[in-house]
Amino acid sequence: MITETTYDTIVVGGGLAGIATAIRRRKRGDRVLLLEKNNRLGGKMDEKSWQNYRWDKGPSLFTMPQLVDELFELCGKRPKDYFTYVKQDESCRYFFKDGTKFTLYSNTSKRIEALSKQFTLNEIAGVENYVREASELYSDIGNLFIDRPKLSWRDMLKSEIVRQYPRILSRQMMNSLNAFNEQQLSNKKLVQIFNRFATYNGSDPYQTSGLYSMVSHLELNQGTYFPKGGMRTIVDSLEKLALEEGVEIRFDETNISAVAHHDLYKVTTNNGEVFARRLVSAIDHVNFYKYVLGDQKQSQKLAVRERSTSGLIFYWAMNKRFDKIGLHNIFFSSDYVQEFKDLFAQKIIPTDPTIYIHNSSFLQKKDAPEDGQNWFVMINTPAGVDITSVGLEEIKDKILTRLEEHLSVNVAEHIIHEDHWSKTQLEEITGAYKGALYGEAFNNKLASLKRHGNECKKYKNIYFSGGTVHPGGGIPLVLKSAKIVDELIEKNG
Ligand SMILES: Cc1cc2nc3c(=O)[nH]c(=O)nc-3n(C[C@H](O)[C@H](O)[C@H](O)COP(=O)(O)OP(=O)(O)OC[C@H]3O[C@@H](n4cnc5c(N)ncnc54)[C@H](O)[C@@H]3O)c2cc1C
Repeated sequence: MITETTYDTIVVGGGLAGIATAIRRRKRGDRVLLLEKNNRLGGKMDEKSWQNYRWDKGPSLFTMPQLVDELFELCGKRPKDYFTYVKQDESCRYFFKDGTKFTLYSNTSKRIEALSKQFTLNEIAGVENYVREASELYSDIGNLFIDRPKLSWRDMLKSEIVRQYPRILSRQMMNSLNAFNEQQLSNKKLVQIFNRFATYNGSDPYQTSGLYSMVSHLELNQGTYFPKGGMRTIVDSLEKLALEEGVEIRFDETNISAVAHHDLYKVTTNNGEVFARRLVSAIDHVNFYKYVLGDQKQSQKLAVRERSTSGLIFYWAMNKRFDKIGLHNIFFSSDYVQEFKDLFAQKIIPTDPTIYIHNSSFLQKKDAPEDGQNWFVMINTPAGVDITSVGLEEIKDKILTRLEEHLSVNVAEHIIHEDHWSKTQLEEITGAYKGALYGEAFNNKLASLKRHGNECKKYKNIYFSGGTVHPGGGIPLVLKSAKIVDELIEKNG
């Protein structure tokens, strides 16, 4: 019986994936309800402000903005009326322990000019060749991994896939990203820069497949962007669109559970009961099985798999401008091999972590006072590892010592406000199992074939979008997952 409490689609989780899935289903004509446990949408894409400082708390690097635009276009709206962004020539500033500083650009001529100050002609040719090959690899096989449902073993026999076997199964690709990079790039610093792309999905460059060399294509060929107003405007503008399109959104919905009820699912929350023809999980899939479906066995089966990294992020209000700090900045550890051993084998906070600083006030002046900067300072940490208050101070001291070496300034003296997110907050606030930023790690060479798919095999009419399932975490892939789910639902009816 269809009643006013019956929906075509109920989406659980109001992060980017949940909002995008809800918009897409609503556009198909579904009556859609989005259930969010917090009092705001966005999940990991949260923001914070203090006095006249503002920080994006989660993602800071924005690629493939066309995937956000696509949602507005789908609804017949002009994206620019809701959401605008600017392309960045400068991709990242790199600082090495030996004092070498180097800026990588996505603009080819600027990149070559900057490279020529540090590297030989041969080394530069290696980089340009690498970037070109990453682009070819992406256009040959990228779509197989990110634009369609997860490849099944049966799909592997289809002629269009078989045709790509030489690329997919090439020795380079079956080797680690590091092995591939060492083969392509003769300079150790360049290898470290290109190894870092493994961390874009929270993985280990010494284990993940060389296939992920194509991640660099997104940053260095397609380019990076910055949304006017900050990353959070992605969520705010999409929330506006969802409401205009008629998605019903409920906040503070906790203890969500679902059971099959005739042809529907009965969904119970702290606020009552609703019914749906289908459910979409846009939360961590381990928690969806455990809490929403009450399927401990399935949840446990998925929970034992290796997770991607978690992170410790300090949000610092600086009362000084540091000219050396751009929009994205990396201070590399001296022993990258050891750092990843610490993260994945030892599961300890790296003794010498690579430090990332995002400083949006570099571009968006209003994010900090004229004489200050808003620093987002992050290190990778192992999933599942809590940080005590003593541990937090120790790590902070380590970070400060390192930054002071590079910047020749007493950095601590210039921090006038501090907040942080770590595994604990990521788990509690965003519902990330073990605080992992991207669900399962991609360390296994067959990781993308083993990842949880977008359609539930065990229960009818249940789908999965978001960073923990296929095709992966990060803004572009999360938006792709929403599209794949929508198309699967359409196909299945
Ligand atoms: C510190 C950090 C840095 C990052 N940097 C980048 C970057 O630079 N570039 C990039 O592309 N990506 C980055 N990412 C990854 C990116 O943020 C995520 O992949 C993406 O935002 C995930 O979106 P999602 O909708 O899948 O999940 P989430 O954002 O986690 O959303 C899940 C939502 O579901 C809600 N929820 C959870 N459990 C329940 C429940 N039981 N009931 C109801 N609601 C529930 C949560 O409150 C949340 O709102 C970063 C992430 C973090 C944390």
